[in-house]
Amino acid sequence: MTVTRFAPSPTGYLHIGNLRTALFNYLIARKAGGTFILRLDDTDPERSKPEFADAIMEDLDWLGLTWDRVERQSARLDRYAAAAETLRAAGRFYEAFETPTELDLKRKKQLNMGRPPVYDRAALALSDEEKAKLRAERGQGVWRFKLDHARIEWKDGILGETSIDAASVSDPVLIRQDGQVLYTLASVVDDTEMGVTHVVRGSDHVTNTATQIQIMEALGAAPPAFAHHSLLTGPGGEALSKRLGTLSLRDLRARGVAPMALLSLMARLGSSDPVELRGSIAELVEGFDIARFGAAPTKFDEADLAPLTARHLAGLPLSAVKDKLDALGVPGALQLHFWTVCRENISTLSDLDGWWEVFEGGAIPEVAEEDRAFVETAFGLLGEPPYDGDTWGAWTSAAKAATGRKGRGLFMPLRHAVTGRTKGPEMADVMPLMQVKPGLR
Ligand code: GLU
Repeated sequence: MTVTRFAPSPTGYLHIGNLRTALFNYLIARKAGGTFILRLDDTDPERSKPEFADAIMEDLDWLGLTWDRVERQSARLDRYAAAAETLRAAGRFYEAFETPTELDLKRKKQLNMGRPPVYDRAALALSDEEKAKLRAERGQGVWRFKLDHARIEWKDGILGETSIDAASVSDPVLIRQDGQVLYTLASVVDDTEMGVTHVVRGSDHVTNTATQIQIMEALGAAPPAFAHHSLLTGPGGEALSKRLGTLSLRDLRARGVAPMALLSLMARLGSSDPVELRGSIAELVEGFDIARFGAAPTKFDEADLAPLTARHLAGLPLSAVKDKLDALGVPGALQLHFWTVCRENISTLSDLDGWWEVFEGGAIPEVAEEDRAFVETAFGLLGEPPYDGDTWGAWTSAAKAATGRKGRGLFMPLRHAVTGRTKGPEMADVMPLMQVKPGLR
């Protein structure tokens, strides 16, 4: 049975990078007919907020990425305490008392001597009396996991054969001075006790994976399969980390991006498969294969979402957007025509606002000086609405007869004067949507 999990910390909103992790884990579970767990990594009581947990669920809901169950780490603290006991009994856990400043100094010294800044395990040499003394002076220590200094190897689903020398990694702190269990241990306990079979996460977790494999083994559990996807960069290869704030899923939603556009892009970006708009998540599931993703950083360009959203919108029936049209105030009788005409001319649903403004007569443009007299004359030949499918033809014929203008010189200034735009739907289709007679400024 395949079990995957998406494990965000509810300390902020989900962004495009998180979506990649969520989606891969989701697709693997669904393709195998397995279980997809939403796990909230909320052991940090200061930074974790219920409103972020709610927002995460809302964003996943919006995308249609349904989870089979929710787990909260804050409800499992006793499990982590039990695991810590096991590690202690196995001689793999030790208390250390260095202050952050002391650790910093050690690191600087090591770097100065050209050595990797790995914790020197000084605490291992402390006698019971020394520990008691330090505890009396400084309070509880932190608890570190004693790595076995061997090579840690696994076959990564994306990176291939991966090997990390445990001696190049500091013994990880698993319990803080204040007793708070850290992610590294909590995640191991959850992954093993929840039967997680596949862990897909960003390549920033590769070192964590190495230490977590040893912790799992120390707890007598078999590690799951791991795959580390590359991190996203901006279109020019620049780090995306600083811009992630504006690339939250809720911002993208507010900017009118369609979920299927986002999912279609993110389920293929960075793989050897082409990005194509898919009609449903089921289609994405079918074609998904984690082995087709490469290890190189993946370029993400928000601009790529616009044509995908446009194509998605152009294929939607009226029923899918009726709420939006109601909210805009488009009369029911006009809605089918409005949608049929506009859907090919928008890249997000919010673009409909601008079109409705045009049809309500609220987008009267500045007319170029050289066209002013012509447009005035032409408007004099146009009656009051309602207009129909013949209005444009009849009106432009009359304007042509009256002014002698023809071709582009006839049509373009009138298109612009009516819609305020130089491009858009067929004018014969536009005219019946005009709620008021177009006017001049
Ligand atoms: N809460 C961790 C994170 O968001 C989860 C990492 C993992 O998938 O194990 O980075």
